[in-house]
Amino acid sequence: MTELKEMARLLRRDVLEMVMDIKDGHLGPSFSSMEILTALYFGGVLNLDPDNPDWEDRDRFVLSKGHACPALYAALIRTGVIPETEKFTLRYLNSRLQGHPDMYKTPGVEATTGPLGNGLAMAVGMAKGLKILKKSSRVYALTGDGELQEGIIWEALTAASRHSLDNLCILIDHNRRQSGGLISDVGGSMPIREKLEAFQISCLECDGHDFSDLLRALKDAESSGKPTAVICHTVKGKGIDFMEDENSWHKRVPTAEEFEAGMKQLEGVTV
Ligand SMILES: [Mg+2]
Repeated sequence: MTELKEMARLLRRDVLEMVMDIKDGHLGPSFSSMEILTALYFGGVLNLDPDNPDWEDRDRFVLSKGHACPALYAALIRTGVIPETEKFTLRYLNSRLQGHPDMYKTPGVEATTGPLGNGLAMAVGMAKGLKILKKSSRVYALTGDGELQEGIIWEALTAASRHSLDNLCILIDHNRRQSGGLISDVGGSMPIREKLEAFQISCLECDGHDFSDLLRALKDAESSGKPTAVICHTVKGKGIDFMEDENSWHKRVPTAEEFEAGMKQLEGVTV
């Protein structure tokens, strides 16, 4: 657990540096998902071969909330799938690290996402395809809680349930906020658990910043026998106190002073 906390701290520093370099990118949604991504990539959940990102028996991870890709890129750099030399190319012209993930450009990216909801639908297709091929690989998709307002999410869940995709795990970054404000004010997502269960999706909940709770839920999801959603309770902007639960940090660039203050807070283990 200490190693995972240390990794999440390093990844948050990476993301802050990358966004500061290009002066663009989504810090708040990246930071709320950081422990989820760390658990998947460094907690022994995803079965991957960093030397062969296209290995056919790998597990699949789809970042359906594609705007949080600085966090995904940082994880892929630290797993060795993307070279460290590309760290400071986020959102550069012709870079492989675009502002939303591109499966045709970037190693380790399983689906091109950004239009919200589409990633989950693609993950459902992958899970069905793996079933047809009789593969034991699992598919993980990370969605935002505001993203659940998209109609395609519910079409995808209908198909996941219809096809009994017990190899699909939907992680919901439930930070209670979206670009426009609180999800309860913008409308349409709540009550999340009741809606998912009405679509015959098995539901688990966890503290999305607590590694032991996250890993327990991810383990339980493997044996539920149904498509399973893990509702991860998180804090937008987690890790830097002046960003936490402050919606302007959905996509705001720090001043030089804010950058220094943020990096200083990330000098020690913060979670
Ligand atoms: Mg949200």
